[in-house]
Amino acid sequence: MPLIVQKYGGSSVADAKKIKNVARRILKTKKRENRVVVVVSAPGGTTDRLLSSAYEITAHPSEREVDMLLATGEQISISLLTMALHSLGCPAISFTGPQVRILTDMAHTKARILSIDTKRIKAELKKGKVVIVAGFQGISQEEDITTLGRGGSDTTAVALAISLKAASCEIYTDVEGIYTADPRIVSFAKRLKKISYDEMLELSSLGAKVTQLRSVELAKRYNVRLHVRSTFSNKEGTMITEKGLEAPGVSGVTYDKDQAKITIQSVPDRPGIASAIFNKIAKENINVDMIIQSASLKGLTDLSFTIAGTDLKKALPAIKVITKRIKAKGVTSSKGVAKVSIVGVGMRSYPGVAARMFSCLAKERINIEMISTSEIKISCAIDEKNVRKAVKSLHREFGLEK
Ligand code: ADP
Ligand code: ASP
Ligand code: MG
Repeated sequence: MPLIVQKYGGSSVADAKKIKNVARRILKTKKRENRVVVVVSAPGGTTDRLLSSAYEITAHPSEREVDMLLATGEQISISLLTMALHSLGCPAISFTGPQVRILTDMAHTKARILSIDTKRIKAELKKGKVVIVAGFQGISQEEDITTLGRGGSDTTAVALAISLKAASCEIYTDVEGIYTADPRIVSFAKRLKKISYDEMLELSSLGAKVTQLRSVELAKRYNVRLHVRSTFSNKEGTMITEKGLEAPGVSGVTYDKDQAKITIQSVPDRPGIASAIFNKIAKENINVDMIIQSASLKGLTDLSFTIAGTDLKKALPAIKVITKRIKAKGVTSSKGVAKVSIVGVGMRSYPGVAARMFSCLAKERINIEMISTSEIKISCAIDEKNVRKAVKSLHREFGLEK
C-alpha cells in the first residue's frame, strides 16, 4: 500500500482555523491513500519570535540553547494538529524529532540528518494512525536537541520520505507552486508545472525560500519527486523532478535580501593568504558566497565577499583575528546588501545573457557591487533597497510574464 509524506509549512498552521483546515485535508488523504505521515512546521511567526526573545536576553546566545528554544515551536503544531485530527475522529499520534530518532550531527542551528529510526512510525501506521512528526528538529549523537536551519521542515519531510520509501512527498505551502519569481513581488509571475532538481537547487540556494536547499539536494540524490502545492486550494502545483521544462534561456528570477558584505582592506598579495582567510571562516561553519579581489597595488589588495546576514555576528570576531594575523589594514562590513539572480539550465547555450542582465539593471540605474556566474545562473549583489525594482525588471526583460 502506498505511503504519502505531506509537509505543511508555518503559514498553513498559523492559527486554529488553519490547523483545522489542514486536519481536514489530511483526513481526506488518509481516506484515499491509507498511510499518511505528516511533517509540520511551527505556527507562522513562532520561530522568529522565539529567536528574538533569545536576543532580548543576550547578543550571543549559545547555539545549543537556541536549538533547545526553537524546537519548542514545532511541538506546538504537532500536538494541536493531532488534537484536530482526533476531533474529526481520525486516529493520529504526534512525535518530536528526538522521539523518532532523527539523528543528526552536532552542528547546532544547521545540523545535518544522519539517519532516522522508522520503527515507531511504522508501528503506529500499522495501527491505522496518521503519524505527525515535528519538522526542523533532531537529536545529536550527544543526545542534544538540534535544528536543521531555517526552513528545515522541508528537509525533515524529504528525509522521512526516503527512509519510509514513500510513494510521494508533498510540500504544502501558501503559494500554488514554484513560480518564475516570488509571486509576492512579481504579480505577473508564472507558475511552473515542472522544474528540474538543478534549477530548483539554484533557486533555493539563491534565496527562494519556498523549499530549503538541503531538501532539494536530498530529493535529487535519492530521486524523490517533490510536489510543491498550496494548502489553501486544490490547484495542481509544481513537480520538482529530474527533467524540468527545458525552457530556452532564463527560467526564473530570484533574490536574497539577507546578505552581508565584508571587506578586508590592504591584504598582502601573496600565496596562501586567501586560503588562510577562507579556512578560518569555514571552520566557523559559515558559507562564503561571492568573492572579489581588487587589482594588486604595491603588493596589497582589497578582498570583499558576501555571507548570509545572519552569520555576520558570528563571522566578524573570526575575521578580525585573521586580519590581524595576516597583517591586513582592517575590516569593514555592511548589511543592506541583496543578491538578485537569474537562473535557467537553458542559459548554457544562450550567449549574451549576462550582458542583457547588466544592461537591464543599468537602465534602472541600479549599481552592481559584485557579480558571480555559473553555467546556469548569474547573480549580482546590489543595494537592498533596489531589490523589488530589479526583480520586476529582470522578470520583464527575460519575457517571463504570464
Ligand atoms: P512555508 O511556511 O510553507 O514553509 P515559506 O515561507 O518557507 O513557506 O516559503 C513560501 C514562500 O516562498 C512564498 O510565500 C513565496 O513568497 C516565497 N517564494 C520565493 N520565491 C518563490 C518562487 N520562485 N516560487 C514560489 N514561492 C516563492
Ligand atoms: N519553523 C522553522 C523556521 O521557521 C522551520 C520551518 O518552517 O521549516 O525556519
Ligand atoms: Mg519554509
